[in-house]
Amino acid sequence: TVRVRFAPSPTGYLHLGGLRTALFNYLFAKSNNGKMILRIEDTDQSRLVEGATEQLCIDLKWAGIEIDEGPNIGGPFGPYIQSERLNIYRTEVKKLLENGTAYYCFCTERRLELLKKEQIRAREPTKYDNRCRHLTPVQIAEKLANKDTFCIRFKLDPHVDDYKDLIYGKMVYDVSAHEGDPVIIKSDGYPTYHFANVVDDHFMKITHVLRGVEWQISTTKHLLLYRAFKWVPPQYAHLPLLMNSDGSKLSKRQGNVNISHYRATGIRPQALINFITLSGGGFERKQGEKPRNYTMDELTKSFDITRINTNSGHLNPDALNECNRLDLIEQTNDPPSEAKLIEEVKDLVRKKYPENIKNLDLNDEHIRKILRWSLDRITNLNQLVDDELMFLWVLPVKTKHNLSKATVGKLVKTLTSVDNFDKQTLSSVLKEFSKEENMKPSELMPSIRMILSGAKEGPGVAEIMEILGKQNTLQRIEMKRK
Ligand code: GLU
Repeated sequence: TVRVRFAPSPTGYLHLGGLRTALFNYLFAKSNNGKMILRIEDTDQSRLVEGATEQLCIDLKWAGIEIDEGPNIGGPFGPYIQSERLNIYRTEVKKLLENGTAYYCFCTERRLELLKKEQIRAREPTKYDNRCRHLTPVQIAEKLANKDTFCIRFKLDPHVDDYKDLIYGKMVYDVSAHEGDPVIIKSDGYPTYHFANVVDDHFMKITHVLRGVEWQISTTKHLLLYRAFKWVPPQYAHLPLLMNSDGSKLSKRQGNVNISHYRATGIRPQALINFITLSGGGFERKQGEKPRNYTMDELTKSFDITRINTNSGHLNPDALNECNRLDLIEQTNDPPSEAKLIEEVKDLVRKKYPENIKNLDLNDEHIRKILRWSLDRITNLNQLVDDELMFLWVLPVKTKHNLSKATVGKLVKTLTSVDNFDKQTLSSVLKEFSKEENMKPSELMPSIRMILSGAKEGPGVAEIMEILGKQNTLQRIEMKRK
């Protein structure tokens, strides 16, 4: 069976690029009836960010990416957090020490620094000179007995086989030409990324590694490790970068690209998921289909790894708002989802106006109407609690206006007879009304606005009426008659 993993390091929060890597792994697993594993790669203890793992699990869940095996969930090949697997790495590295593909290195920080300086001065590539490869067993035993600080390095073999990247095709890269022998166990006893990654992929029976293209140059190193262990490597697929349409980094134009930030600003999960599938390929799509968001099941069915482009995906930030708007429309068209949306609106309004909690207009029908009215005007539910739309939610209490009881009465009567409660009709009705009442619109309108919204400014009066709807408009005016 197909087994894939998403293997983030908790050195920061999940961002768009990471979300796409997770999504593609998930879709690949699902479309092959396989398993999706979450593994936390926390071997660089100095770079850990507190709470990052917890946030990551929350973000993945929010995005609809389900994990089959991982921390908190468990599974047959755990633990799924690398810092809990140190004894496994210790056992495995012994095999490499024994078969001569790894060795103890006692070079001090100071020596490595001097070496680097010399190489820079000589304009040579800066890389470890593999000096400790040549220590004799006696020298090693002495140093160990002496409790000298050591790390363990892997002997990079210049003879490397090419491999077939499922996205990029045939790859050849002689890593030993660019790097000295890499550290696999650090002096603090922790493994490095490369070593832990290979050991875990092997023992977790990973069949396909789908990861960002930035790891592509590490792959031959990983393959050499597999060879040293005599293990069969998984297949590799490297995912090209995601960037803005102008070629800049995502974080440049969009600022904070963390998933939790998108959620906090009203972006909906399926909108975000669809947004990141809009470019870069990977899906079989029908031509000429009306723009819409796809469900996870649809994405799974149309996902095709061979369709992923090798050049970077360019995302248009505006498309995200459009995806979000489509999602809102899709939710409103499905009664159970609409009911949830209505509850979300209530929460937003309550949070926004805690001091008016007793005067909030949170009737389901009222919200349903507002949602329908708003859908070709807003792209984000948060816009419904913008200050200028406060009147939608907060029932005006003390409203000063200078209309006589008789005028208010006539207004009620006039509006009652209006069937089409749209902006155009209402604005001509109001014009007509001001003539009949012998009032200038500049006298009449502020008063009606005050009655309806309790504010001096905001959208036009006819528009306020349209948004509120007939029943609500009449109710608010009737209250002033008594
Ligand atoms: N821990 C690595 C990362 O943060 C995982 C790379 C891989 O998937 O091999 O991206």
